[in-house]
Amino acid sequence: MSHINGAVLVLSGPSGAGKSSLINKIINDIGECYFSISTTTRPIRDGEVDGVHYYFVDEEEFKKEIEEDQFLEYALVHGNYYGTSLKPVKKALSEGKLVIFDIDVQGNHSVMNRLGDITTSVFITPPTLSELKRRLEHRSTDAQEVIDRRVEMAKREIQRISEYEYVIINDDLDKAADKLRLLALTARYKISNDEINEFVQKWEDL
Ligand code: 5GP
Repeated sequence: MSHINGAVLVLSGPSGAGKSSLINKIINDIGECYFSISTTTRPIRDGEVDGVHYYFVDEEEFKKEIEEDQFLEYALVHGNYYGTSLKPVKKALSEGKLVIFDIDVQGNHSVMNRLGDITTSVFITPPTLSELKRRLEHRSTDAQEVIDRRVEMAKREIQRISEYEYVIINDDLDKAADKLRLLALTARYKISNDEINEFVQKWEDL
């Protein structure tokens, strides 16, 4: 069966879980991908580039985009808005790409509702809460108050871990990357309901 449309891989997990490092490790092994760039109202951090890590906008601009129905999903995370624009996602899917989202549990819920038939969802977490705290403190890109907020958020997010199809405990980066690579490659084989119906019709005609 020719599978022309793309698929979606949702990655969630607390900041400090190692999502970016894992993605960097596997990105060259998983075929054509589009890594979705979210729009956010949070302040830009040192080392981040507008249009690469996020599109950084103010709240007024973000709310305008909500009104114009431009988001596939959006959510308030750590007091800032984050959203996924629909247009580039549609384009990438029509080009047969694997679309990768780094979004929170609220975003996963929305994407599952809208694109569940072609979505694989993965929650990535450090082995323990104390390990998460250690990693966030070592990263030291954020003030203590921000770290504390992220830790509280992580405690809440872990309560919704059962909403995900897969969980990767990122204890050993290489082993975790092996698991994620496998899931990313498998994610491509998810077929949309439309494609299945089309296939069945053609199959019966032969
Ligand atoms: P950070 O500020 O550390 O880059 O991201 C904070 C949180 O926001 C992370 O859990 C990340 O997955 C989530 N996030 C980033 N972009 C989006 C988005 O477009 N939608 C949703 N729902 N969450 C997002």
